Amino acid sequence: MDNAAFRAEVREFLESHLTDDLRDAAQLGFGVDRSACSSWHRTLFEKGWIAPEWPVEHGGTGWTLTQRHIFDTELALAGAPMLMPFGLQMVGPVIYTFGTVEQKAQHLPGILDGSTWWCQGYSEPGSGSDLASLKTAAVRDGDDYVVNGQKIWTTNAHKADWIFCLVRTEFDGKPQRGISFLLIDMSTPGIEVRPIISIDGLHHLNEVYFTDVRVPAANRIGEENQGWTYAKFLLGHERTSIAGVAASQRNLRALESVARELPVLGGSFRERLADTAVKLDAVEALESRVLAEAARGGSPGDEASLLKILGTEVMQAIEALRVEASGYYAMPFEREMIAAEVPADPPGPDFALRAVSDYNFGRAHTIYGGSNEIQRNVIAKAVLGL
Ligand SMILES: Cc1cc2nc3c(=O)[nH]c(=O)nc-3n(C[C@H](O)[C@H](O)[C@H](O)COP(=O)(O)OP(=O)(O)OC[C@H]3O[C@@H](n4cnc5c(N)ncnc54)[C@H](O)[C@@H]3O)c2cc1C
Repeated sequence: MDNAAFRAEVREFLESHLTDDLRDAAQLGFGVDRSACSSWHRTLFEKGWIAPEWPVEHGGTGWTLTQRHIFDTELALAGAPMLMPFGLQMVGPVIYTFGTVEQKAQHLPGILDGSTWWCQGYSEPGSGSDLASLKTAAVRDGDDYVVNGQKIWTTNAHKADWIFCLVRTEFDGKPQRGISFLLIDMSTPGIEVRPIISIDGLHHLNEVYFTDVRVPAANRIGEENQGWTYAKFLLGHERTSIAGVAASQRNLRALESVARELPVLGGSFRERLADTAVKLDAVEALESRVLAEAARGGSPGDEASLLKILGTEVMQAIEALRVEASGYYAMPFEREMIAAEVPADPPGPDFALRAVSDYNFGRAHTIYGGSNEIQRNVIAKAVLGL
């Protein structure tokens, strides 16, 4: 099928399946309601379109990179709910790459059909950037590990069925060498989830406490004490997905239409808008390069760090421009003065609220998935050899 026909097929599918309710639910990002997100996930699964990045033998679509790009862009432009990345983009690739036959059979179907939700148990108090210093301990006892410790900033732990966790299984020597990668059922006795309310007023984040939690050793991915290798593989995939190119394109287009309607948004605003649009094009090109490398079987690697930095900085630039533009809808006095310039059909009443909420939460883009300062350190060391 040629690309134009493929795009038309995706658009037709979106027109008939993406309801207004789903579009509304999508506005909440990570705060999306589980049932709305799962219903959209299921719709894509039933169509066979849920895991374009996965190898075909595990449920992937076999699309070309261009088709994948078209698909992501069309979904974002149409305002589809985000799919939770923790299963599809993070632990799924780890399980099909390093998991046992039993682990693949147990976990991949639920990730694909969206019936199982996952969360990511990497960060701990004092072990975020310095992740290898993590202290949550897993001590072997017969066929089980007994896990004690605390994770923090665990997105959607309160909605998840399973958590993939980095735990310490060896306590001496180089910190990276004593880490193992465990899959833990969130209903296991001894797990307590406590909410953290973020600056957007929503509950995405949590602390997760483990007290004498028994986890079968069969739930360990790969070798004991080799978890750092699997953890880094996962982070490469996570950083690639964080760049948010398609979502930025959608927000930028909305902003362009507001700028066209409101000449009062002056030259400086337009210059910054144009500058951001050019930067987004560059991020898009870099994303294609990283994805092409991954599709050839390579690891997203160090370029994923570059993509994460540039993609998240563009996201924040767009969020700042949205707040600036929304001022003209939020202030009655200004609005009167520029009445002739306010479009007859202005963006919805939520425009300013959403812009401010996204701006506030968007401070986190440059922190999660490994802060941008740390990504700069990675580039300095691994790419520039400094
Ligand atoms: C919204 C959000 C969602 C998250 N979701 C999850 C999740 O689901 N699961 C999970 O495991 N974690 C999650 N995290 C945690 C995230 O990965 C960490 O916040 C991040 O790795 C930074 O760690 P930290 O918060 O401990 O900050 P710190 O490591 O304490 O860093 C504080 C500041 O110091 C800077 N800094 C630290 N070390 C250096 C250095 N060597 N050189 C230069 N600068 C340095 C950092 O860049 C940062 O600006 C989430 C975080 C946020 C904000």
